[in-house]
Amino acid sequence: MKVSSVPLVATLAAVVGAVVLLVVAVPFHRPDGVDRPPVWEQAEQMAADKEPDHQGRVPEPTPTETRTSPPEADALPGATRPGTRPPVLDHGPRSGNKVALTFDADMTDAMRYQLRSGAVRSYANLKIIELLERDEVPATFFLTGKWVEQYPQVTRRLAANPRFELANHTYGHLAFTPDCYGLPRIAREEMTADVARTFDVVQAYGGRQTRYFRFPGLCHDRTALTELAPLGLTVVDGDVVSGDPFATSWRPIVRAVLDGVRPGSVVVLHVTEANAPMTDEALPHILAGLADRGLEPAPLSEVLGHAPLASQP
Ligand SMILES: [Zn+2]
Repeated sequence: MKVSSVPLVATLAAVVGAVVLLVVAVPFHRPDGVDRPPVWEQAEQMAADKEPDHQGRVPEPTPTETRTSPPEADALPGATRPGTRPPVLDHGPRSGNKVALTFDADMTDAMRYQLRSGAVRSYANLKIIELLERDEVPATFFLTGKWVEQYPQVTRRLAANPRFELANHTYGHLAFTPDCYGLPRIAREEMTADVARTFDVVQAYGGRQTRYFRFPGLCHDRTALTELAPLGLTVVDGDVVSGDPFATSWRPIVRAVLDGVRPGSVVVLHVTEANAPMTDEALPHILAGLADRGLEPAPLSEVLGHAPLASQP
């Protein structure tokens, strides 16, 4: 069939015109407080607004930067001043009796392939979540963006629990240093956007949001920390590494946690089921051992004593 080119050109011109109108119109008609740019754009803008002067001082925010609810990123636990290299914490104050149980939710492209091919049933350990819910145990979940996208219902369930805090574990669990347990590496120029994007993905679920961030494999260096400076976050490693990935028995996990845990500890566990298949079996023993020692699980922000941190010295 022969098609006349004249109506085609006219249609194309109309479509292009409409698209141009849309693209041009939208950014200049952003009502205040509605249709906000992603947090990372705000953070970048704030960082750009607060360039250190020649003596290295960063100007104080102007009084016009008042905030309204819901809380902005800079009011969340773990928030730091954008433009400063983030502090790295591995535990809270050693006074008191609180400890933080933290669960990483890794998801790589290789893991997604395992799911799609049917080789793996699940990377979301619902038994852990059920136990924490049933016993009303506070916990903190470091979520990758890809895990959230794989498990939106589970993420909704985590966000709905007032005892659970949500934190950031990158978008696709790539390595932020040259040598990190064989994980594929992210390019330096993609680091900031990757972590910012993950905050955006997680924040859409509401609940107890934070500006806590954990590197995959806890691997970080000065370069990685510098790249995250615009985002106003706190890096949390942990002082008790349970060793639960690929465990074949629950006993060494329990031993590692109970041997290392002290007041203020941050315990690193995984909620990834197929890649940490013994964690749900270890958890009741861990909880009992903590109780024996007079230690009480608490959300990460309580263990770290936040209140948004002052910037790192
Ligand atoms: Zn991880």
